[in-house]
Amino acid sequence: MGIGKKLREECGVFGAFSFSSSVVSYIYYGLQALQHRGQESAGIAVYNGEKVNFIKGLGLVTEVFAKENLKALEGRLGIGHVRYSTAGSKGIVNAQPLVANFRREYMAIAHNGNLVNAEELRISLEEEGRIFQTTSDTEIILHLIAKNFHKGLIQAIKESMREIEGSYSLVIMTDRKLIGVRDFHGIRPLCIGKKEDTYFISSESCAFDVIGAELIRDVEPGEIVVIDENGLTSYKDEVSEKKMPCVFEYIYFARPDSIMEGRNVYFARLEMGKMLARESPLEADLVVPVPDSGVAAARGYSIESGIPIGDGLIKNKYIGRTFIAPDQKEREIGVKIKLNVLKELVKGKRVVLIDDSIVRGTTMKRLVSLLKDGGAKEVHVRISSPPVKYPCYFGIDTPSRKELIGAKMSVEEIRRAIGADSLYFLSIEGLKRSLGFNSICTGCFDGNYPLEKIKEQVYNYEV
Ligand code: AMP
Repeated sequence: MGIGKKLREECGVFGAFSFSSSVVSYIYYGLQALQHRGQESAGIAVYNGEKVNFIKGLGLVTEVFAKENLKALEGRLGIGHVRYSTAGSKGIVNAQPLVANFRREYMAIAHNGNLVNAEELRISLEEEGRIFQTTSDTEIILHLIAKNFHKGLIQAIKESMREIEGSYSLVIMTDRKLIGVRDFHGIRPLCIGKKEDTYFISSESCAFDVIGAELIRDVEPGEIVVIDENGLTSYKDEVSEKKMPCVFEYIYFARPDSIMEGRNVYFARLEMGKMLARESPLEADLVVPVPDSGVAAARGYSIESGIPIGDGLIKNKYIGRTFIAPDQKEREIGVKIKLNVLKELVKGKRVVLIDDSIVRGTTMKRLVSLLKDGGAKEVHVRISSPPVKYPCYFGIDTPSRKELIGAKMSVEEIRRAIGADSLYFLSIEGLKRSLGFNSICTGCFDGNYPLEKIKEQVYNYEV
């Protein structure tokens, strides 16, 4: 596997187990609340007491499911998935949940994350004669659990966890059980919710609010949570690793109304904006957020600096995340149709333009020139995260180092490239202080990944 060539996935997972009622509508609405985590495909698998029925398709949750086909998915136990991956991996074959016939029963699995030893594992499983139907890492996990199943379900999962390396938040359905699993560092989020006699496992807590459930707690790093007719049981191995949740969830990926590790995402972003104003104060007339990703940080910047905030950029609500477009030309057109400048507001003003991150630099370059063309006197860019210098191996789609502007250029060179009057990125210390905890994966900013194997590969790799 060459660095930067690997397929990376960011997804949303959701599972439900009820003692009394059908769960399909909960899963449907749960997935809709997680739609920001993946728009490429959606799927739901439900066990109805006799067999597993499932529907998967390409597109948004509302496009894949209609009232009629949801009727075919009645049952008290089910899991769902929304998927987002980079170019080359599209296609229904990789859509999840993956459902397998197994020991005259079934097993279904949905995964958010990315394995870093997938290739080695796949080769060794193939050498044992196992056949794969997809190109996704998730099928490897399915095979490993099946292979070890004769030792008992929990032992099989534990042994699989010892073999796989990387990030994984899983919901699994087998043996009439709903199972949630989180990797040893807790890189991707996963939490438990409850409403009356129905339990839920979700990538984010915002899904619980939508269906009227209550957030109970996060699944702990290295924990296996089993929900069945006996209620909820937790299993944790003696192996304990440092908790290292992904910082990019707080910066960009998660929904602001989610709570992760006890920290509300919106307030974390607000604090990042305040910290940015403290680290890099300015004489300016107007704070302009990049909608929607820069909104919370821009409010924080405005509160701390006293500079008024205004909607200098207007967003077309019907355009999805432009970053997801597979090639550069499409991404550039995407930025143009997505955002327009409110000339009447920005004319003659010294603007502080705030976004959460710069990855390739496409968005910022375009926005600075939009604001200048719209009459802004000065455009000062403030970013509520440090420069992205390293790719993510754990599920966030930050591409190869060659494409990362922060890996190739100094801050001053980036400023020139995007045409801004000044540019400042939040420090890593400021970022951690805004979150209120230190133990967090900042690999994309400083190469400090929770896995030694990745650190070595990255440091030996030329930009
Ligand atoms: P770029 O134009 O490549 O510099 O991307 C930066 C913009 O994309 C910012 O507005 C971010 O909010 C957004 N962004 C950053 N990371 C991601 C990601 N992994 N997926 C989708 N959008 C992202």
